Amino acid sequence: MELLHSGKVRDLYADGDDLILVASDRVSVYDTVLPTPIPDKGKLLTALSLWWFEQLADLVPNHVISATDVPAEFAGRAIRCRRLEMVPVECVARGYLTGGGLKEYESTGAVSGVELPRGLVEAAILPEPIFTPTTKAPVGEHDQPMTYAEVVEKVGAETAERLRQVTIEVYCRGAELAADRGILVADTKIELGWAADGTLLLGDEVLTPDSSRFWPAQSYQPGRAQFSYDKQHVRDWATSSGWDRQGPPPEVPAEVVAATRARYIEVYERLTGNRWE
Ligand code: ATP
Ligand code: MG
Repeated sequence: MELLHSGKVRDLYADGDDLILVASDRVSVYDTVLPTPIPDKGKLLTALSLWWFEQLADLVPNHVISATDVPAEFAGRAIRCRRLEMVPVECVARGYLTGGGLKEYESTGAVSGVELPRGLVEAAILPEPIFTPTTKAPVGEHDQPMTYAEVVEKVGAETAERLRQVTIEVYCRGAELAADRGILVADTKIELGWAADGTLLLGDEVLTPDSSRFWPAQSYQPGRAQFSYDKQHVRDWATSSGWDRQGPPPEVPAEVVAATRARYIEVYERLTGNRWE
């Protein structure tokens, strides 16, 4: 198979007309891949993404062909999918104000051109979920916010409206389902693409901890940074390790790896209701 692309966390291969999307056990914090893998992370995120594709299938068709017809070495952490012409927009929906959205709001009062009420604090719930698209930046660069008008310019009014609608619907379905299970979905990013027959499909991964911010509902408290479901342990460790975030990070201690793995399992089990074997 031809390796088309190797991201921070995933690798993408071509197999004839299909793609094989392989999730690794790599984990990144502060945009840097750590030298220590988190065992089973690739399988957990792949299983979670597959589960969500099914939950969302009545809202939007997806690119999945098979989760089992993949090379044996990638079993459990790869998806055979239809190769799409990806829409050149990262489709983000936000229900809470945090991360890049918070920074933008603090300097402009808006996120991706969506005006928000004054006086919102960090992690505040928004009056309603908003569509805050970004560019798909080339490797090594950061995605930049796009206004809705810029999306229209890039993909046309009709496609822009579909992107917005699908993104908000996926967010709302995901947030509703997760809320029942004690998890808040602060925001999420999806990617859509055109199949050869002209249909718009949901691609990439969906509603995983790598594409979304999950917060435990129990400890939610606006006005401060929230506990990150998956990466809090590695982040806390990275912060206290003396690593300057410039040079290569040190190996992650075994207890931090174990705690992080346990959080990925917990997210998977809580959301899907399945036991992780
Ligand atoms: P990062 O590590 O920051 O996420 P990245 O986005 O380049 O970098 P990946 O997310 O691993 O790395 O890359 C996956 C790539 O595969 C993305 O560019 C995504 O748009 C693309 N992709 C996902 N599904 C499909 C598909 N069905 N057809 C074509 N391309 C796809
Ligand atoms: Mg990506």
